[in-house]
Amino acid sequence: MIDPFGRAIDYLRVSVTDRCDFRCVYCMAEDMTFLPKRDLLSLEELDRLCTVFIEKGVRRLRLTGGEPLVRKNIMHLVRQLSRHLKSGALQELTLTSNGSQLERFAAELADCGVRRINVSIDTLDPDKFRVITRWGNLDKVMRGIEAAEAAGLHVKLNAVALKGFNEDELPEMLRWAHGRGMDMTVIETMPMGEIDADRTDQYLPLSLLRAQLEQQFTLTDIPFKTGGPARYVEIAETGGRLGFITPMTHNFCESCNRVRITCTGMLYMCLGQDDSADLRAALRASEGNELLSTAIDEAIGRKPKGHDFIIDRRTNRPSVSRHMSVTGG
Ligand code: SAM
Repeated sequence: MIDPFGRAIDYLRVSVTDRCDFRCVYCMAEDMTFLPKRDLLSLEELDRLCTVFIEKGVRRLRLTGGEPLVRKNIMHLVRQLSRHLKSGALQELTLTSNGSQLERFAAELADCGVRRINVSIDTLDPDKFRVITRWGNLDKVMRGIEAAEAAGLHVKLNAVALKGFNEDELPEMLRWAHGRGMDMTVIETMPMGEIDADRTDQYLPLSLLRAQLEQQFTLTDIPFKTGGPARYVEIAETGGRLGFITPMTHNFCESCNRVRITCTGMLYMCLGQDDSADLRAALRASEGNELLSTAIDEAIGRKPKGHDFIIDRRTNRPSVSRHMSVTGG
């Protein structure tokens, strides 16, 4: 799958549910309305859709959400998809998770051929954790990370950089993550979906964070890539890697290799644009995959060059109305 700008699309992110057991304040409103369960693709439909994408050239697949591990019987889907790892058609099957259910699922994920997992944590302080997630339990997440490590999964920590919330704590988190052999990535908040707060109050440009970190660490840019949009540095003092995902201060679209599917089968060609293709209709219109394949080709042919996120007081509206939990972060 080659888009109009010559980018090969070999990375698919699939949101398997819009539901989550946390309500991170920059991600969701407290009283989110979730989709009726009947609108979701079944696990069989998700498998069929992913399989068609793999046949069309997807080599890396990430399950996300919402919280992927709260989807009922999710391990059935992971187990099914793992056949593509065994056949060699898929190079990597991975997940982005808040870690709350990892203690339960880590061993089985590893058994299915999952090797890496991203765990999102924005603070190591249990009280602040409860505030930012509105009701998350940090202890449980820590047990999840331990279970993942014990199962041999490579854990990467993802933290959203939030002004006045965790900016002072990020150096300590970095030391903690690197001390455990985990890479870490920091992410700028993106203006996606209505939340209960003003995003200008939360937004911390990573250029500023980098300057702050340089006061106590030696950062060296390195060409390391995981196939995602992060740009990595090595930290001399810890010997670990830190990734910066900077959708706001540095547009990362030129090398975009991915598309995203929501749990209802909408294909989004860009995280920051509204154009989409209804693959559920194509999926349900016939038992064969021809219609689906044509719908995917048409959509890839419309992949835009990039997004234009803005956060400022004049544009006090999200750049895209859907929440990150719909398209899957
Ligand atoms: N529940 C899983 C998790 O916690 O990682 C997967 C879904 S979550 C939407 C994926 C990532 O998106 C998390 O790291 C979360 O912090 C991040 N995220 C959510 N809303 C965001 C926003 N508006 N800007 C930047 N990152 C956001």
